[in-house]
Amino acid sequence: MVKIGVLALQGAVHEHAKMIESEGTSKAVFVKRPEQLLDLDGLILPGGESTTMRRLIDRYDFMNPLRQFAASGKPVFGTCAGLILMANGIKGEEKSHLSFMDVMVERNAFGRQKESFETELNAKGIANDLLAVFIRAPLITKVGTDVEVIAYHQEEIVAAKQGQFLACSFHPELTDDHRFHHYFVDMVKNNTKIVV
Ligand code: GLN
Repeated sequence: MVKIGVLALQGAVHEHAKMIESEGTSKAVFVKRPEQLLDLDGLILPGGESTTMRRLIDRYDFMNPLRQFAASGKPVFGTCAGLILMANGIKGEEKSHLSFMDVMVERNAFGRQKESFETELNAKGIANDLLAVFIRAPLITKVGTDVEVIAYHQEEIVAAKQGQFLACSFHPELTDDHRFHHYFVDMVKNNTKIVV
């Protein structure tokens, strides 16, 4: 059984854990201390508020351990604020956070009227009718050559993959559609096979 951590400093933590556990083949771990990362096969950075999450990452000394986790080649999945943490550029902001992926993001990119909405997406290799909930979501405005676009919403990029890294603007954990998490759990399982 693979062990997948959910960074449990702030945000939609329990919903991700439920998704992971419901796979039946993966165990969820609530990550509250950096040492817990050592024991994981994969990690989820949840949605919430990216600036708050970054403050807590600094306060609890998670920055270097998270970078080491990524450097070890293990899969990381970021949703919404988690995507913002993983991007190497944030529109209008001087600094990025973890810079795991060669993507540029724009925070709260959907404007006021569309702050929250639900839609179906065609997610490459996952589902052509994936249920997606957007809440004050960021957009991916630019991707590097190593980045594969997984989903668009009205011609804007809302999900992407770069090797061991997967990220989306929306909240798959807030729906009953398990297919995006299933895809990530498979990434973790395949990676574990490579390591062993
Ligand atoms: N708007 C939030 C941010 O900038 C992200 C929203 C979310 O995770 N639902 O961090």
